Amino acid sequence: MDDIIIHIAEIKKRIQQACLKSNRDPQDIQLLLATKTVTPDRIKIALESGEVLIAENKVQELKEKFEALKNVPHTNHFIGHLQTNKIKDILKCDVTCIQSVDRIELAEKLHQRLSAENKTIEILIQVNTSFEESKFGVSPENTIELVKQIARLDTIKIKGLMTIGLFSAENEKVRKCFQLLQSLRQQIIALQLPNVEMKELSMGMSNDLEIAIEEGATIIRVGTAIFGQRIYPDSYYWNENT
Ligand SMILES: *Cc1c(COP(=O)(O)O)cnc(C)c1O
Repeated sequence: MDDIIIHIAEIKKRIQQACLKSNRDPQDIQLLLATKTVTPDRIKIALESGEVLIAENKVQELKEKFEALKNVPHTNHFIGHLQTNKIKDILKCDVTCIQSVDRIELAEKLHQRLSAENKTIEILIQVNTSFEESKFGVSPENTIELVKQIARLDTIKIKGLMTIGLFSAENEKVRKCFQLLQSLRQQIIALQLPNVEMKELSMGMSNDLEIAIEEGATIIRVGTAIFGQRIYPDSYYWNENT
């Protein structure tokens, strides 16, 4: 059996165990495959084994793989930093949810383009819960204001929040990030804003998915633990300056 299939089974086990521990239903947690640097052939192995949700970080990579994966049923999310000049391209690639919206300028440009194309899109708001300068995302204190502003754009459907937890071996510091995201979600729910749903919490990756599930994740994003180590450092994907 292919390694990828074995690794997916291992992740399912980990999801199950984390759910047992926190008294949750594994059905409530979607596994998203983070496919940056992974070739279409390898992504296909995962999709043909029954996985459905994948996401890229770079529009260029998304475009390169789009044709090759067109005939394999799946859903595309986007989890990378999105530049406004790439909006046209991303809308051509059937992305159903942009998880990484973190500024009003981006949402406004997106709205303009969607209006022109008579389309709508789902988004999550990316929050920088680890307060690291190297990470994208709106700051926690500005999150609610951003949600309110974007809620006025009727082509954009806010479905929840996304974050990348702190990289740390200290689990309690990582947990704080996920608790912060959950707390923001609860605060936003309480506001009962029109055009805002707070169903999804996208948090947890290869190394911290158990903690994220314990804190309420509904989408976990896993790359390395399924496809193996990447050759590029993640800073290449996560930094403004690379
Ligand atoms: C790469 C990436 C992941 C997956 O990280 P792994 O540690 O490889 O599981 C999750 N979310 C985002 C935004 C990513 O860029």
